[in-house]
Amino acid sequence: MKKHIFRAMFYMAIGILLVSFALSIALLNEHDSAVSRAELRSELELIAEGVQLEGKPYLKNLNIDDTRITWVAGDGTVRYDSVKNASRMANHADREEIRRALQSANGYGESTRYSDTMMSRYLYCAKRLDDGSVIRVSRGTNTVLAMTITMIQPICIVLLAATVFAAILSNRLSRKIVEPINCLNLEDPLANEQYDELAPLLRRMDRQQHQLRRQESELNQRQEELDTIIDNMYEGLVLLGNHGNIVSINNAALRILGADPDCVGKNILAVNRNVDLQMSVSDALGGTESDKIVRIGGAVYQITASPVQPGHEVRGAALMLIDVTEKEKSEQVRREFSANVSHELRTPLHSISGYAELLKSGMVRGGDVQPFAAKIYQEAQRMIRLVEDIINLSHLDEGAGEMGWAEADLSEIVRQTVERLQETAAAKNVTISFDGEPARLDCIAHLMQEIVYNLCDNAIKYNKDGGTVHVTVRNKKEKVILNVKDTGIGIPEDQQGRVFERFYRVDKSRSKEVGGTGLGLSIVKHAALVHRAKIDLKSKPGSGTMIKIVFPKHIPIKNVAAS
Ligand code: ADP
Repeated sequence: MKKHIFRAMFYMAIGILLVSFALSIALLNEHDSAVSRAELRSELELIAEGVQLEGKPYLKNLNIDDTRITWVAGDGTVRYDSVKNASRMANHADREEIRRALQSANGYGESTRYSDTMMSRYLYCAKRLDDGSVIRVSRGTNTVLAMTITMIQPICIVLLAATVFAAILSNRLSRKIVEPINCLNLEDPLANEQYDELAPLLRRMDRQQHQLRRQESELNQRQEELDTIIDNMYEGLVLLGNHGNIVSINNAALRILGADPDCVGKNILAVNRNVDLQMSVSDALGGTESDKIVRIGGAVYQITASPVQPGHEVRGAALMLIDVTEKEKSEQVRREFSANVSHELRTPLHSISGYAELLKSGMVRGGDVQPFAAKIYQEAQRMIRLVEDIINLSHLDEGAGEMGWAEADLSEIVRQTVERLQETAAAKNVTISFDGEPARLDCIAHLMQEIVYNLCDNAIKYNKDGGTVHVTVRNKKEKVILNVKDTGIGIPEDQQGRVFERFYRVDKSRSKEVGGTGLGLSIVKHAALVHRAKIDLKSKPGSGTMIKIVFPKHIPIKNVAAS
């Protein structure tokens, strides 16, 4: 911009200079001509006077260098010429100034023309004398070009100086014009007050800046929201470029793949070398979607790899890694559970079938029928208990959402259960006692009964002859604590964590002998989970077992799955 302004100013200055110069020369020339004419005319008057008085001798005695004097007779014959030989000169009657002098009333004529004789531009002034002859004076005048040529040196010097001056001035002015524009504060366009002409532009810039800032902040906000969601996702998400290089990876994926946050840009295969993962990636980059169950670092993940394919060309891939370890485990547990159920049911069924077959074949003598029938009854009871426990567990597996929550007094439930078990305890020579205070809490009453019954039943079953079972209920500010303590056989330390597994028994034959199903504590664990309760087991083989369950009094969200 500065260059443009400089050029425009410079050329304008030079143009003005040249035009003024030409005009000045023209005016000077005009002025010079007028002065010359006036001078020449007064000279003519003087010479005419002299010729009238003295004639040719006067002319011969005159000594004027730059003026040519010609005396022409009335018929145009040249009588005298100060420059040329008069006798050799042509008739001058046709010369304009002489013609005018002869013809005009005042006897004066003048003209300006190139003299063929003198090869120059001349001003001619002629005056008619009393005798009818004409005296003429002429002098060479400077043409504009001639004047210019004679003054060429000073003109050049003046032009050069003017050019330099114009260049310096144009440079300074253009800098001065451009400087405020260069210093504009574009961050705050309205704060600039240099030029009024720039105001509409600055206002528009200000509006656009506001718009840009608003759009930028909206974009940033959206990006932050997206980043927060992606980073806090439980599932791993990886976006790959078309060569398998990581474009974006969230925190969960970093943790799953054991990668550093600076792995962005690296190839996914250099970050984790799992073969299944590699296959998923290459499938997706080849344009095929894949869904695989992959083991990474001891956990099980479902990897869904999808090609990113806006048109026909695959531009990259998106990997979604979902932790399905728990799901896999529960699937495994369910498979084992089904196998165990079949196995557990088969044993009493075989016994019942065997005894019934003997009775049917009439091989049992009259006195043995009753013990056989008792055996069948015992096995059938065991099966009923097993089936009931299985049904209870499957209900718990389905979730507690449909079960009826209500406020109940745990002490009352325990008191009733202990009473129900007095007979069973007495049959085993075990004393069962209860000590508790009223403790109301949100609960599913029949699950609470299951918990209390199973714990007390175990405490009696796995007790010693003459042993005791003591049950307490404590009402705390926010919780209710159930404690079942026995003086029984205890549980070895290494198996204390496993007794809550389905069908796990410390001593299988003893459990069967006392009518156990291996599901009691499993039901306790699931029912406690439904109530958000914490179980604490302390046991010492030979001394006894204490199981403590801490229940919260209030559960805000009661739709809880037990599995
Ligand atoms: P079961 O029907 O066999 O009693 P449970 O799930 O109730 O099954 O208990 C699992 C195992 O834990 C039992 O087989 C038993 O070996 C052990 N157990 C449970 N409660 C006690 C206890 N109070 N004292 C000693 N062992 C116990």
